[in-house]
Amino acid sequence: MYDVCIVGAGITGITAAAVLAREMNKRVIIVEKREHIGGNCYDYYNGVGILVHKYGPHIFHTKYKKVWDYLSNFTKWLPYTHKVLAFVDGKLVSFPVNIKTLEQLLERHFTEGEMQSWVEKNRVPIEKPKNAEDMVVARMGRFLYETFFKNYTLKQWGIEAKKLSPDVTARIPIRFNRDDRYFTDPYQGIPKDGYTKMFERMLNHKNIELVLNTDYKNVINDIKFNKMVYTGPIDYFFDYQFGPLPYRSLNFAFKTLNQEWFQPVAVVNYPNEFDFTRITEFKHITGQKHSQTSICYEYPQDHVIDKNVPCYPIPKKETQEMYEKYKNRAKKLKTVFFIGRLAEYKYLNMDVCVKRGMESIKMI
Ligand SMILES: Cc1cc2nc3c(=O)[nH]c(=O)nc-3n(C[C@H](O)[C@H](O)[C@H](O)COP(=O)(O)OP(=O)(O)OC[C@H]3O[C@@H](n4cnc5c(N)ncnc54)[C@H](O)[C@@H]3O)c2cc1C
Repeated sequence: MYDVCIVGAGITGITAAAVLAREMNKRVIIVEKREHIGGNCYDYYNGVGILVHKYGPHIFHTKYKKVWDYLSNFTKWLPYTHKVLAFVDGKLVSFPVNIKTLEQLLERHFTEGEMQSWVEKNRVPIEKPKNAEDMVVARMGRFLYETFFKNYTLKQWGIEAKKLSPDVTARIPIRFNRDDRYFTDPYQGIPKDGYTKMFERMLNHKNIELVLNTDYKNVINDIKFNKMVYTGPIDYFFDYQFGPLPYRSLNFAFKTLNQEWFQPVAVVNYPNEFDFTRITEFKHITGQKHSQTSICYEYPQDHVIDKNVPCYPIPKKETQEMYEKYKNRAKKLKTVFFIGRLAEYKYLNMDVCVKRGMESIKMI
């Protein structure tokens, strides 16, 4: 008999298990469909011994001290500040857009005030942006939209920015200074021995039992438990009653090269050329020393259930409406708690997933 059955051993389910077992002395079983723990945050050493992130680069950053402190019980951190460059017209330019970006693109010096006037002159006053294109054009003008966002959005979502919700681009930063950090949260770092090692430590407790390679629906009738924390897809839980919730997926194509370095920073975006959206070089993130290097190309594609990994919920009004129907059904279940990116049908950063997992104490 278990107190809690947790579906999914991603960062959300693992955090829930760790707090329920340790803080509340609950007996927990986690059922995970994949052959490994960690969900999309899983990392592993590849054939030549380079630590890579199986589902694309994962950088931990948070403004929540309690989340940082909690994970710090299970890992030391490598200090790491994430920098991204974009390949535009044969040049590598700073991203997100800041003073350096304008200088690199327009080949002249800008002060903060000059950048502000430039953006003010270029932006198109749109009172209520109705879609993702309007949102960028209203905030930073058509030139920056066409340079960085137009084609990238089409590649990333397979849909024109015009047809996507304005929320998609509403929070994209533009900086009127020279700060070229990708994230500005006060706590940033990479687990010193990798994410998977940190997760192993979180799960290492006498109250936690883990079952891998198992879809929960195949075993749920054989497990006795009082409550459930569900971190899998909400539509699957309800047998797709209102239809499958659509996602965008990615194909991660890995390569190991016989050279020490491939590119100057961890991630280079390709907004316009090629079918892939970005290339990651992992050693920049992990600080690992190795004579070879491993890189990963990301090719966006549609999600096909059971064929590839659901990565990003599609940000459209219709999909949100479909999700609301599932959410209303979920609310009626008093012993099942739906948390995490698949159960909430929402792009969540890792820190928010940890926060959700920690809050499971209040639900159970
Ligand atoms: C390309 C990419 C890059 C990202 N980079 C960052 C980053 O730099 N920083 C950041 O903070 N966040 C990043 N994220 C977000 C991060 O991946 C998520 O926050 C996190 O993985 C969500 O964790 P989760 O546990 O909610 O979901 P998941 O990791 O998806 O875990 C859910 C688990 O449930 C399992 N499951 C599903 N159905 C069943 C079933 N029927 N039975 C049993 N098990 C089931 C799945 O196999 C999975 O392991 C990135 C996401 C993507 C796609």
